[in-house]
Amino acid sequence: MTVNKFIRTLLNLKELIVSNYHLQIRKRTLTLWVKPYKNGCLCPICRHRGKIVNQLKELRRWKDLPVYGCTVFLEYCPREIECPTHGRIQEDIPWAESYSHITYRFEFAMLVYCQLMTQKAAARLLNISTSTISDLLHRTISRIRDGHKIRALKTLSVDEISYCKGRKYVTIVYDLDRSCVIWVGKGKGRDTIDKFFNESLSDYQKKKIKWASCDMSEAYIGAIEYHCSNVKLVLDRFHIVKALNEAVDQVRKDEWRDASGDKRKAIKGLRWLLYRHSSNRTKKQTRILNALKKGNRRIHRAWILKDEFECFWEYKYPKAAEKFLKRWTTTALRSRIESIRKFVNTIRKYSDKIITFIGSRLTNATAEGLNRIMKIIKNRASGFRNLNAFIDMIFLVVGDLDIPAQIPKKFRTI
Ligand SMILES: [Zn+2]
Repeated sequence: MTVNKFIRTLLNLKELIVSNYHLQIRKRTLTLWVKPYKNGCLCPICRHRGKIVNQLKELRRWKDLPVYGCTVFLEYCPREIECPTHGRIQEDIPWAESYSHITYRFEFAMLVYCQLMTQKAAARLLNISTSTISDLLHRTISRIRDGHKIRALKTLSVDEISYCKGRKYVTIVYDLDRSCVIWVGKGKGRDTIDKFFNESLSDYQKKKIKWASCDMSEAYIGAIEYHCSNVKLVLDRFHIVKALNEAVDQVRKDEWRDASGDKRKAIKGLRWLLYRHSSNRTKKQTRILNALKKGNRRIHRAWILKDEFECFWEYKYPKAAEKFLKRWTTTALRSRIESIRKFVNTIRKYSDKIITFIGSRLTNATAEGLNRIMKIIKNRASGFRNLNAFIDMIFLVVGDLDIPAQIPKKFRTI
């Protein structure tokens, strides 16, 4: 076996032959002169073989996976060929994308490492700097996702998450059937969500959307109803429960502020107790809450209302649920508690979109799960320098396209 062949076999290089090598021990770089093996002179567009018309003078260089801390470069002078359809053109490079400075193997390793660990750790394994890896990652992911279309969207969900300090938000659209993120846009208003519907979906696709879930935000509800004619909108259960919990907590805060001495003692330590679902309470805790009937009637009243509202989610028939909701809202209004009244008004305004839950059992739980993963990505990177870097990572880890799988199969080895 010749040394060249040995290097090629050892480094598992594919689609090329090694014609010479140069090892710089001090710099720890290995440069390999290579050429395509059996697949030279192909047109990069139609992949037809063309006649060589010119040997270009320009030497090109690609970075490959490092070997024991030693950086590996491939070097080759591509030839110019004459394609019957596309005319004079530079031949296809089998081991890398046309304009890339890194090989497919390197791209694949970078994508997989970045899915698993921080960019900093991945950069260290690949022997490059952190700023370089984020540039390379952005270029690779943009290229792979370029022209990607959303497919078979039936159930969508919209939510917002903050991406850096100072209340900066991105709007995220999820496909709940496939549990993945399909779109990310800067901002959280109606403009942002309109952009999604206008730019990413065709009219046909919009008509195909059957279900949608979101929180009680005017912007999202308005946009979904405007763009999707056949949609059934379900307001997210957890957001509603949260709103009611906050209303009850507001009562507690108001009472605490106005009370003094003994009265304060009676309502001390209630904060987390009031949030609890009835099925998660111990007998002792229920007794404490029942004692409020004497201690503080307003909090007791708010709490009873909250407990009663839990029944709503158990209904099986929309008509029965509707009846319950009517009864509950009337009772709640009689309590004359301001924060509860506000909650009732919201419920009444969107009641048809809350009752749709009964038939569909659709919630944002999947989306919340994905949000948790995104938060982990954000935290492990200790924030991102720019929004694009965060969006790249979202698409790489929870996106609708399996990005590493788009690299040609032969080169998917690390
Ligand atoms: Zn061609």
